[in-house]
Amino acid sequence: MIHLSGVSKSFGSTIALDAVDLHVPEGDIFGILGRSGAGKSTLLRTVNLLERPDEGAVYVNGADVTTLSARALRRTRSDIGMIFQHFNLLNNRNVVSNVALPLRLARVGRHQRQARAMELLDLVGLADKARAYPGQLSGGQRQRVAIARALASEPKVLLSDEATSALDTDTTDEILDLLAELNQTLNLTILLITHELEVITRICHHAAVMEAGRFVEQGQTRSLLADPHSRLGSSARRLASRLLGEDRVEAIDEAAVEGVA
Ligand code: ADP
Repeated sequence: MIHLSGVSKSFGSTIALDAVDLHVPEGDIFGILGRSGAGKSTLLRTVNLLERPDEGAVYVNGADVTTLSARALRRTRSDIGMIFQHFNLLNNRNVVSNVALPLRLARVGRHQRQARAMELLDLVGLADKARAYPGQLSGGQRQRVAIARALASEPKVLLSDEATSALDTDTTDEILDLLAELNQTLNLTILLITHELEVITRICHHAAVMEAGRFVEQGQTRSLLADPHSRLGSSARRLASRLLGEDRVEAIDEAAVEGVA
């Protein structure tokens, strides 16, 4: 569904992306983990061409977006929804109007867009907040509104830019569970970037670790986590040791090897 081939991007002397190859199959949840400055955001932004690569090809649903006309690019962009760390809602519009906004821009009639926006709010569990304003909602509720808005154009792909970074742990889990549910029910392909290991381990089928504009590791999340020598596996073990204690983690590892856990 998303395929990047040899994508490079520099800002002056800073190499943000260094010949990145990425393949995200349809229906996948693919997570890119990395520290600040690794190039995650630049990578995500090349998918909807908010950032134009210096080199390489970016295929979304079969079309190389770098070669599309402005009109074709607009059409392809409507297949791609995006959510952000700080939600990016309009504070002077109520919830239903925020969700309906992309439909209004696409010149969908008033009644139809209101009905569709209400359906979407129902989908994210917020139908009762339709007339509230963003300022009256919690962070998790605001992100639900942003997710509903991102789904308004019925995209095939959802890009998530640190969507849970501003949320507490429980709310993060709720939003991640919602994304996993939408992935299943809508067959929505999700590409997300994060600096939080928990996001990768909870919902991502595949993961890549990014450093200095390159993938230093990628594969099935389950296989990477099972390998204590992978970066993902060793980070997960370090985190578990801090939370549970070294002995308990060793016991879990041994049980897993014996097929008991
Ligand atoms: P991440 O999302 O992993 O934090 P970014 O993709 O934002 O990383 O940034 C990768 C590198 O590119 C960083 O060194 C950053 O400073 C630089 N960079 C990103 N966007 C720009 C820009 N518009 N102008 C100049 N440098 C940029």
